[in-house]
Amino acid sequence: MTGKTHIMGGIAATTAYAYYSNYDPTALIISGAIGSIIPDICHGGSKIGRRFPILSNIINAIFGHRTITHSLIFLVLIGYILTLITDNQSIIMGVVIGMASHLILDACTKNGIKLLYPASVTVRLPITTKTGGAVENIVLIALTIVTIYLGKEFIL
Ligand SMILES: [Zn+2]
Repeated sequence: MTGKTHIMGGIAATTAYAYYSNYDPTALIISGAIGSIIPDICHGGSKIGRRFPILSNIINAIFGHRTITHSLIFLVLIGYILTLITDNQSIIMGVVIGMASHLILDACTKNGIKLLYPASVTVRLPITTKTGGAVENIVLIALTIVTIYLGKEFIL
């Protein structure tokens, strides 16, 4: 999936979570947008990879693309690191939900993800699409509609 689909996925997921919880919607959604692009740090051409090229190159050289950074172990690790940095639960939940949304969206691509890294099993959902294809645009529109529908509760 492309960066904009991931960001919209993170925003949609955290907007939905804000709708059904008592967390601070602003902190949750901003953190969700940031969390949604963290896993692609393994890819130098991604939004976050271009921002942190040295870190991105190191991770890519050691682990390759879509391995550890697209795994449960990395999700837990980042969640744990966040608890050391902040006690703002809205930020922690936002980043974790944003990252989880990224993994779900990438599991909808033909290449799938190494969710159980270091186990080499590839996880992909039964229905897959190719990155940047027409189906992805439909997903992007659907995520946007969900965000507007649920998010209007916070704006009004
Ligand atoms: Zn990815």
